[in-house]
Amino acid sequence: MSADQGCLFCKIIAQQIPAKTVYEDQLAIAFEDINPQAPVHVLIVPRKHIPDISSMTDKDRELVGHLFWVAAKLASENGLIGGGYRMVINNGREAGQTVFHIHLHLLGGRVFAWPPG
Ligand code: 5GP
Ligand code: ZN
Repeated sequence: MSADQGCLFCKIIAQQIPAKTVYEDQLAIAFEDINPQAPVHVLIVPRKHIPDISSMTDKDRELVGHLFWVAAKLASENGLIGGGYRMVINNGREAGQTVFHIHLHLLGGRVFAWPPG
């Protein structure tokens, strides 16, 4: 699987940096955010290093869809189905992206405002 030497999430995937992993399969892993913004705050990350949504290729379409499937599974396991949950992808610096390896934030366990900040 392609990895980027300088990428924080590639290092977590390679277990060079520890993380609280809550799910993993051949395509993706999910781990708790180090600075949680809600009672449940999990990052769902493809094993393949793709810097951002704009860098996706046609071949990545199912992979990115898979991240949402993992989110729904984890939302169910965390009892978030009734109240709802939020999924966020910050894409690009002005959108708040700080780690340039695609990741889907799964947030739940509290009420969320709209519009986001
Ligand atoms: P972004 O700002 O790119 O959308 O999200 C990056 C997320 O990664 C942030 O919510 C941040 O708290 C989280 N994060 C940054 N460094 C680490 C780390 O070393 N471990 C974990 N588990 N999360 C991290
Ligand atoms: Zn990476």
